[in-house]
Amino acid sequence: MRSDVLVIGGGITGMMAALHLSEVGARVRIVDAGENSGTWANAGSLHVQMQSRFMRLYPDQVPAVEASLPLYKAAAEEWVRLDGLYGPFELMRKGGLMLAESAEQLAFLEAKARREEARGLTVDLLDRGALNRVAPWLGPQIVGAELCHDEGKLNPLIANARLMAELARRDVPVLRDRIVDIEASGTHARAIGRHATYEADQILVASAWGAGEMVRGLGVAIPTKAEPLHMNITEAAAVSIGHLIQHAERSITLKQLGQGQIVIGGGWPARDRGRDCPPEVLASSLLGNVALAARLVPQIGGLRVIRTWAGMNTTADGASTIGRLPDAPRVVMALPGDAGYTLGPLVARMAAAVVSGGSAEADLSRFAPARFAA
Ligand SMILES: Cc1cc2nc3c(=O)[nH]c(=O)nc-3n(C[C@H](O)[C@H](O)[C@H](O)COP(=O)(O)OP(=O)(O)OC[C@H]3O[C@@H](n4cnc5c(N)ncnc54)[C@H](O)[C@@H]3O)c2cc1C
Repeated sequence: MRSDVLVIGGGITGMMAALHLSEVGARVRIVDAGENSGTWANAGSLHVQMQSRFMRLYPDQVPAVEASLPLYKAAAEEWVRLDGLYGPFELMRKGGLMLAESAEQLAFLEAKARREEARGLTVDLLDRGALNRVAPWLGPQIVGAELCHDEGKLNPLIANARLMAELARRDVPVLRDRIVDIEASGTHARAIGRHATYEADQILVASAWGAGEMVRGLGVAIPTKAEPLHMNITEAAAVSIGHLIQHAERSITLKQLGQGQIVIGGGWPARDRGRDCPPEVLASSLLGNVALAARLVPQIGGLRVIRTWAGMNTTADGASTIGRLPDAPRVVMALPGDAGYTLGPLVARMAAAVVSGGSAEADLSRFAPARFAA
């Protein structure tokens, strides 16, 4: 099977890269293992400000995330552009509130806001009086918040379905196979799958947690790691929450869909059961996550959880990985950093520009796979 470009991975990054490549006339196919895509499990938060959860868990990766803040802002804007082209995706960009329950947490947010402002983000600190005007439904113990105006939310089920439909409309095939090796030394590149071998002029790797292992034989050691995470969704609520909600110290994201349901997540763990089946939901995560949500927004305490699930996130070194492999230039990486659903479409556009020889829209050296040269 031969194509100009083979895209490995059919999540948001692979789908969007394939759309961009088909737009410039490339013959493109997607091959996807159908295993634990974060894209089909995620919460639809458009993250821009640094997440306190990430800063706490991965302090060594914070400098890479901080340096990438302008990319996050541009990525949220890219989603607005896509919403106009292929939406509506229930996208709302009212901003994201990171809540503080103590003076110490507020001081942490103040310092964080100064760093983010220096990177071009639009942020404000709100005291309780100001918060009452935009989010009167918050619990009485909340003392203030950081408001990042660049953040937003969307409904990922709608966005994914619309983008899949666009791929079908353009006759981009999505093949089901697991790639076990890539050879890219000669005049073309070859991906060896369990069911077939795929030849192409170039290969774009958008396989998230599966990417590091896939390109290990090509001179790079990319430390992609699977991170199983928990999610909940409630029945529709009367309260109207327009912002994306997070907390200065605790793991939580909370937002409302267009039909009123509240999606609650934010990085509570699930149990990895291997790549052949989704991660297992943990009762402790379900209970801890919804209890925290009800503390922050008391009206949530009266709602029923209608569904709970777990999905696979990907971590590496905090920054996105975009560009050609130094020892195998026919292979182009497209791996979003933390909050990969937010970053995916922009990372895809940048990687597709590399594949098609057009100029990438930002200086890619910060994201070059060469930093992982083995
Ligand atoms: C529960 C949860 C909530 C999240 N919430 C948010 C959020 O609100 N906002 C946000 O920005 N991010 C969020 N994320 C992160 C986000 O979902 C992911 O970072 C993003 O979807 C990654 O997209 P991707 O296309 O790069 O990879 P994925 O969507 O993970 O897709 C990778 C694909 O590659 C395939 N693959 C892997 N190995 C192989 C192989 N060897 N051969 C063939 N195919 C292979 C997999 O089957 C998979 O389909 C969340 C993640 C989880 C798990």
